[in-house]
Amino acid sequence: MAATVIDGKAVAASVRERVRGEVEELTGELGRPPGLATVLVGDDPASAIYVRRKREACEEVGIRSIHHEPDGDIAQEDLLELVRDLNDADEVDGILVQLPLPDQIDADEIVNALDPGKDVDGLTPTSAGRLARGEPGLVPCTPQGIMELLASAGVDPAGKEAVIVGRSNLVGRPVLSLLLGANATVTICHSRTRDLAEVCRRAEILIAAAGQPRLVTGEMIRPGATVIDVGTNRTDDGLVGDVDFDAAREVAGAITPVPGGVGPMTIAMLLSNTVRAASLRHEDAATSGRTP
Ligand code: NAP
Repeated sequence: MAATVIDGKAVAASVRERVRGEVEELTGELGRPPGLATVLVGDDPASAIYVRRKREACEEVGIRSIHHEPDGDIAQEDLLELVRDLNDADEVDGILVQLPLPDQIDADEIVNALDPGKDVDGLTPTSAGRLARGEPGLVPCTPQGIMELLASAGVDPAGKEAVIVGRSNLVGRPVLSLLLGANATVTICHSRTRDLAEVCRRAEILIAAAGQPRLVTGEMIRPGATVIDVGTNRTDDGLVGDVDFDAAREVAGAITPVPGGVGPMTIAMLLSNTVRAASLRHEDAATSGRTP
């Protein structure tokens, strides 16, 4: 029997709806809408599209979008200055610096300068450390979206064998922490893994995040497994995932498509993180007696 296809667009729409309600409530409490600052540097066309979509998504749910687009040749110190200003700005609850940054910029130094309380991408060492330690904090958007998709498919990771293909800071490692936090038994694979097929076949939950078109074939999937395909690969056949969807669908129990699976969740979780950052700042301000 063919696998159930997990509809990321529908799950993302329900997250956005939930966020819309939270924004309304929070706007009443704060006396202003939550604010997300986006910083776009350089002329990468894909980045420009991503940022535009993020800004539009903010406006749709009532989050104020505050956009900065400095010159592509901006100096490191000037970009750091902008980040510090946004860290200090009361009306800014979340800051998103779109990556990649131009060559003259040390991206790590910029990310590390973000106030962890406004780190809605969850990429600062503080956010990553908290997640790895199982402490509350802001969690990267795509990994969080993956957990929402599992929940929407009725998959409880507790006690299950989970395998992640890919160990990046953006996807693989945060997913490892989240699945571990949800009590799965987790294996993480990478380019030096000896027998990828054999490891993948153990997975009741398989997360493919390698950036390699159709790396995961039907034979690598355990019958009935839940397969989440994070891969976004532009090929001559169009956009394809890291999983051979047609073959995998015949074996898996549930599977996400590309496009229409993980992709739509990333922006939805960014909105959710912005509301979370705004609420936490509001609570902190209330306990310390400051006006947020
Ligand atoms: P990345 O930084 O390039 O990391 C890729 C990981 O996959 C690395 O750990 C690498 O191993 C591993 N890998 C590569 N080839 C492999 C192979 N043949 N066998 C086993 N492991 C292999 O990529 P990323 O940023 O995590 O992104 C992964 C994919 O997800 C990309 O297609 C990206 O476009 C997509 N993505 C989608 C979204 C979304 O919203 N839909 C968001 C983020 C990323 P080593 O560490 O050994 O090099």
